[in-house]
Amino acid sequence: MSPLPDNFALARRRMVQEQIAARGVRDQRLLKAMQEVPRHLFVDEALWSQAYNDHPLSIGEGQTISQPYMVALMSDALGLTGGEKVLEIGTGSGYQTAILARLCDWVYSIERILGLSRQAQRVLEKIGVFNVNLVVGDGTKGHPREAPYDAIMVTAGAPQVPQPLLGQLKQGGRLVVPVGDKHLQNLMRVTRRGEEFISEDLGGCRFVNLIGEHGW
Ligand code: SAM
Repeated sequence: MSPLPDNFALARRRMVQEQIAARGVRDQRLLKAMQEVPRHLFVDEALWSQAYNDHPLSIGEGQTISQPYMVALMSDALGLTGGEKVLEIGTGSGYQTAILARLCDWVYSIERILGLSRQAQRVLEKIGVFNVNLVVGDGTKGHPREAPYDAIMVTAGAPQVPQPLLGQLKQGGRLVVPVGDKHLQNLMRVTRRGEEFISEDLGGCRFVNLIGEHGW
């Protein structure tokens, strides 16, 4: 991906330094990706001036683009090194998809709202992100056709870990998912070891609801 020249490079540098590196994210590839991906293009032009602020923003359809730090924290938790096949549930604006695409080999991303998926596709093409497949459907069922995955990220809050996703993880694979009630969740990382799944709580978070057969 070649970064487009834009007027927000300074805002992005400050975002990375003050919101992400300062909170302990050390992965240089991730910091570089967040320095280079033009986040403002993933929101409406009226919101460009807020695109690098420390909070989520509306993307229409009652959905949000996550806070930059949450994008970094969740990406970091997957421990990507470059060769992985990753499944993302909740394409939304496509911003998180673009970050993942910089960190792994291929991203499959599922979104239940057609209009959001189409808009995300347009922006990803515009900025030259081509190692992604966007799919429209209920991501709580995963994407069995391309399973198993090295890593899975769910970017909406679930009442419990969606069971089909566990079965689509490779050995040693990592799943990151917010789990809780409709208003507050805990970010959980589940790692597959044989037929065992080891859970870690990475802290509190607040996401829109994961809606579907294995969600709300
Ligand atoms: N990662 C996104 C970004 O960078 O803009 C933010 C995602 S937003 C917080 C959560 C998204 O999950 C919404 O776009 C919502 O429509 C989607 N979603 C909710 N339930 C879903 C499901 N069962 N399958 C796929 N997408 C779902």
